Amino acid sequence: MHERKRQSRDATPTREGEAMSNITALMERNEAFSRSGAWRSAPRLPFLPFKGLYVITCIDPRTDPADFLGLEFGDAVVARTVGGRVIDAVIRDLSYIGYLVEAKAPQGPYFEAAVIHHTDCGSRLLEDPDLRRGFAQRSGYDEQQLAALPATVPAETVRGDVAKILAAPQVSTRITVSGHVYDTATGILETVAEAVRVGS
Ligand SMILES: [Zn+2]
Repeated sequence: MHERKRQSRDATPTREGEAMSNITALMERNEAFSRSGAWRSAPRLPFLPFKGLYVITCIDPRTDPADFLGLEFGDAVVARTVGGRVIDAVIRDLSYIGYLVEAKAPQGPYFEAAVIHHTDCGSRLLEDPDLRRGFAQRSGYDEQQLAALPATVPAETVRGDVAKILAAPQVSTRITVSGHVYDTATGILETVAEAVRVGS
């Protein structure tokens, strides 16, 4: 395993069945990061982020909160899903982190889950019934559920997802939840649901 890792780092020609890796070109940046020592300033257990934020946003490369919120090392937990939608796995992870804080650092500080949907979202391609049906057939995922995925009107879907977290009984009542829309045409983030505490 070790040998294999070293080989990819040195960009050794690939063996049959092995694909060229796109990450190889970024390994120099990793070395610079390692040399910088920035990783030493890690948040304390249970890894509460410095800015007290748990950001949920789209996987779209234009919607990286490191860019539009200027997040730096350790500033936030970042969960990214298609559309920034709060799927069950997001609820599970939020529950887990909330529970960890309750169990390991009950005095807090707790954190805010900030849900961010955005304009011009690729999730909207699933509004096309043919594309949706094709994906359902190809993947086995439920077509009805896929129909609910697109962030058609982001201000509405984000409010719905904030409500979903607020209503989830497994999520710690010590965290707060807010909703925002990011405009890919202007770079502006707008709050559409002010922070509310879970269970309130
Ligand atoms: Zn998107």
